[in-house]
Amino acid sequence: MCSICAAGFGTLGDMSIVQNLETVRARIRSACAAAGRTPESVRLLAVSKTFPAEDVRAAHAAGQTAFGENYIQEGVDKIAALHDLPLQWHCIGPIQSNKTRLVAEHFDWVHSVDRFKIAQRLSDQRPDDMTPLQVCLQVNTDGGETKSGVRPDEVLVLAREVMTLPRLVLRGLMTIPDPVEGFEAQMALHQRATALFEQVRTELNPPQWDTLSMGMTADLEAAIAAGSTMVRVGTAIFGGRTYAH
Ligand SMILES: *Cc1c(COP(=O)(O)O)cnc(C)c1O
Repeated sequence: MCSICAAGFGTLGDMSIVQNLETVRARIRSACAAAGRTPESVRLLAVSKTFPAEDVRAAHAAGQTAFGENYIQEGVDKIAALHDLPLQWHCIGPIQSNKTRLVAEHFDWVHSVDRFKIAQRLSDQRPDDMTPLQVCLQVNTDGGETKSGVRPDEVLVLAREVMTLPRLVLRGLMTIPDPVEGFEAQMALHQRATALFEQVRTELNPPQWDTLSMGMTADLEAAIAAGSTMVRVGTAIFGGRTYAH
């Protein structure tokens, strides 16, 4: 773990994490109610990037089991520090080729696959004694050239290729839309991902296609209204991130 994380700067303390989790769960419940969806149809992924293992432990004590990490080495260190707990770990950050082995050997899920070469390495490197790696394809719904994510018009091709890989299970799509103000504008962006999600189901029908990973602290209500099945929430649970890696 990086020295700054280990020092625990910027952490809220256990009581606040417990309260914040309750608040986020209530937000999810009311967003589901407003959208006519059952609360069980949306999973909460707690994004613990930059926060120390002790904060993850506090969230687990309050019933949270799924955690997301952006920075692979930081995630691997936290997974090791918390191996006594039955947690599920999701890699949600960019993956360089030289980091695929760490991801394949330590994480349960990856949300950020946007190239076949990375998917192939993850499948090749997934240890035989682990369950297959659960994968979402990251899609760049805004079309920004510099952003991570596969282009919308390339999603079907990549999904078809990833379905052939023996040690991966293709579960769905992930998207990080540009921040915009207002429910309607946020929802319009999320709906682009929802449309692609439905298109893959219609055209390829992957056997376990059930995950639309979208919505963060600022836009989870709009994401749920648009059909998200997994929201990735950091700030509203662990507090503000006081520095960037
Ligand atoms: C940091 C991050 C989140 C959480 O964002 P918050 O605004 O803190 O809730 C979700 N998804 C990804 C990919 C992230 O990098």
